[in-house]
Amino acid sequence: MEYISTRGNYNSVSSAEAIILGMVPAGGLFVPEELPKIDISELKNKSYQEVAFNILKPFLSDDFTDEEIKNFISMAYNEKNFDSKDIAPLVSLDEKINILELWHGPTFAFKDMALQIMPYFLSKAMEKKNFNKEIVILVATSGDTGKAALEGFKDVPHIKIIVFYPDGGVSSIQELQMKTTDGKNTFVVGVKGNFDDCQTMVKQIFANKQFKEELSEKGFELSSANSINWGRLLPQIVYYFWAYLKLLDSKKILFDDKINICVPTGNFGNILAAYYAKNMGLPVSKLICASNSNNVLADFITSGKYDSKRTFYKTISPSMDILISSNLERFLFDISRRNFFKIREWYENLSKNGAFKVDETTKSRLKTELYGNYSTEEETMKEIKETFEKYNYLLDPHTAVAMNVYKKYLNESEDDLPVVISSTASPYKFNSAVYKAITGKDEKDEFKILEELNKITNFTVPERLKQLKELEIKHNLSISIDEAKKTIKKILGIGGKRICLKSSKK
Ligand SMILES: *Cc1c(COP(=O)(O)O)cnc(C)c1O
Repeated sequence: MEYISTRGNYNSVSSAEAIILGMVPAGGLFVPEELPKIDISELKNKSYQEVAFNILKPFLSDDFTDEEIKNFISMAYNEKNFDSKDIAPLVSLDEKINILELWHGPTFAFKDMALQIMPYFLSKAMEKKNFNKEIVILVATSGDTGKAALEGFKDVPHIKIIVFYPDGGVSSIQELQMKTTDGKNTFVVGVKGNFDDCQTMVKQIFANKQFKEELSEKGFELSSANSINWGRLLPQIVYYFWAYLKLLDSKKILFDDKINICVPTGNFGNILAAYYAKNMGLPVSKLICASNSNNVLADFITSGKYDSKRTFYKTISPSMDILISSNLERFLFDISRRNFFKIREWYENLSKNGAFKVDETTKSRLKTELYGNYSTEEETMKEIKETFEKYNYLLDPHTAVAMNVYKKYLNESEDDLPVVISSTASPYKFNSAVYKAITGKDEKDEFKILEELNKITNFTVPERLKQLKELEIKHNLSISIDEAKKTIKKILGIGGKRICLKSSKK
């Protein structure tokens, strides 16, 4: 498969090259030149791993052998990493509503679905392309992505990962999750400041040519594990086919029947994977794009105007608190019939003025493919409680946003095709909001909430989450912002004595 730039500003590259580069160096994103057609009847009765092989292969076979692809899959999607044999179990609440649980991986959120496998793509791609530097992944995290990236990259050859998080600015579960990460190539650094400070700091390091050259001379190349990397998007296509197969299995649908898919959306990666699945032959009617109070996408789908100049809200579904949805560019490239002149114009406007407006044709195609709406904080809380009372099923706040928007769609359209709702986090991962929604009570101690919520709801607590408190702290570094470059050099053993950063505390 060849990959081309959404802005028509780069030569086409192979899959390994697209994965190493991450984004198009001149700006823009890599997209597959064409989408392979998948024959669903051939996937019947296959395991998650076998389905994954069938989906991944046409995208990767230019650079990777069948053996290698199978290897990636078995290293990522196994019962050591996922606490369900199905990897992504589909739970039916009633005849129509089905929840696709994407949070059975090591960090209890859906980022694991991609970050468990993507590091193997990257490591092998580097080998293939004789890329002889060591990759240093830098991540600034507000809590969730950091741990998922640490778990994915730990002990992967040729790669080191350094995660920066705002000291005191993440939840206690998130902080413990990161600080207890094992693996010889993982580093976790608390930064005195908030998440924005952290992110700005990392961005400045990426933009610092002199610093990058200094690292390069010593054999290191900086990279990010960003969700715009093709290697992160591709694995997400798999589970939409999987969900359809499960519906066939349970006789909720017949072969070729259409379904709707509803996705709680932030960066537009997860829903884009569903769109690609549809274009590869999955019988999907409507894609329902659910936002929280940061409703820039809902407005865009209604009006055709993308306007990021608006108030930013911190919500109880923090992984969707995003005003610029990077992967939307790939979708727009497709529905504008691959018109890179338009993409260039729109994205130039976005970077200059914080907004752009699509033409009428694109707007009408946008509305054919997508329904967009949002859920307020109050509605999200109410949804958690109502769903629990009605179905005895516990939603996390992100999935509750999706459920609320799905109901709005149902009300407006009366389109009651079976729906798959993408469930992106375990309710225990964002448990203080869930606890408050169910009990009306405020409680800060997340470990206490685990127990209480489990008692009230009987909903299974992931084993690894329960054990978290007993794990040994392995990282205990806290720095101020201006120490970042020095810290990276120390971690890599450049310029001075290599320090031991792992705590030896027993
Ligand atoms: C990242 C994330 C999302 C948003 O997914 P996108 O692919 O960025 O749209 C939703 N929910 C959770 C829990 C997440 O971690």
